[in-house]
Amino acid sequence: MTARPETPSLVPTNKVCTKCGRTLPLSKFCRCTRNKDGLQRWCKDCQNEASRNRQKAKEKTASRQTAVHQSDGRNPELAKFKPVQLIDELRARGYRGTLTYTYEITL
Ligand SMILES: [Zn+2]
Repeated sequence: MTARPETPSLVPTNKVCTKCGRTLPLSKFCRCTRNKDGLQRWCKDCQNEASRNRQKAKEKTASRQTAVHQSDGRNPELAKFKPVQLIDELRARGYRGTLTYTYEITL
């Protein structure tokens, strides 16, 4: 069995991921036609991680809304607020983004 010598070529076979800084084979990068070299700047691992984090952030936002939503459960004190007060209260607590909630009145 003869080992094939590495072909010295002008085409780079490795690329440095701008996120994790590792030098990885080009196969570790997804294609991206917008970039000069036709590849993403981040390796697949970093892309995956980033999309996972995006997903997590989404879930976080959703659960935040749910927490406020279920005012009878996890945030009993929020049920006492009027909508306007609630908005101020949530701002004060650092909540940002779109909030949808139902206002429930027990008669
Ligand atoms: Zn990476």
